[in-house]
Amino acid sequence: MFLKGRSESLELLHFQYLSTRMKLDGKEKSHYLNLKKGYEGELKFDLLAEILREERYVINDLLLEVNNSYFQIDTLIISQEIIYLLDIKNYEGDFSLEADKLCALSTNREYKNPLYQLKRSESLFRQLLHNLNTDYLIEASIIFINPEFTLYHASVNYPIILPTQLNRFFYDLNRAQSRLNDGHKKLARKLISLHQTKNPFTVLPQYYYDQLRKGIYCNACKSFQISIKNTSFVCGVCGEYEKIEQAILRNVDEFKLLFPDRLITTLNIHDWCNPGLNKKTLCRILKKNFTANGSTRDTYYT
Ligand SMILES: [Zn+2]
Repeated sequence: MFLKGRSESLELLHFQYLSTRMKLDGKEKSHYLNLKKGYEGELKFDLLAEILREERYVINDLLLEVNNSYFQIDTLIISQEIIYLLDIKNYEGDFSLEADKLCALSTNREYKNPLYQLKRSESLFRQLLHNLNTDYLIEASIIFINPEFTLYHASVNYPIILPTQLNRFFYDLNRAQSRLNDGHKKLARKLISLHQTKNPFTVLPQYYYDQLRKGIYCNACKSFQISIKNTSFVCGVCGEYEKIEQAILRNVDEFKLLFPDRLITTLNIHDWCNPGLNKKTLCRILKKNFTANGSTRDTYYT
């Protein structure tokens, strides 16, 4: 049973929105691509995890804090006897894990040793369970999800599940009977309630309102070449249609996330979307979907 779904992190959303409206530098771009790829790997794992049978709770994407230390868990599977703590990596290509270093062979790029991260998460999670006065066996593993991933020089004792072992991992899990009781349920609920929505270690690129490209872009190919046809925007590059209202709301969401201190007013959204619509239509859409506050002259929406 999936108790907590997964969605893009605020960090990934920021990068996703900003990448269409400003030029990211090389480092930012590669960070964005890594975040995106990581998220795609997690979604892929979620699809595979749908074959899980027996009674189990699957909790995705937890950010927890113990004694002022934060740690992230990509997927937690609570079963009768064991809690599986899984870190999902979507690396692609040939890697070696030697002398405590994970290295991409084609680029010689070094990555943080995922085994250290895993150990840290496992130990903090153990502390958390201890603080909650519960005790379960924890099995922590790194899952390399990408079928194009090859790892050299890894010890057989490492808590690593390679792409070729993934089917077996699920098969073995499914073979173990699992019945959950109220204790499991209480723990699952508690963990979800402890989830932190703001990651204090997120570093966002610097951006300013004036520097960002305004306008509505195509939701499919990100092109700004769109025009209005009846009640939709149509993309001049890929031909994608999007209802005007839906596109405006999508852009209001972006505006809200990128500029939480700015008010949602007809004027501000008009400037942000630059939609080629009259303000009356825009005002009607905002009125319909948000609550109007303030006097008529200075109405803002929440
Ligand atoms: Zn398009």
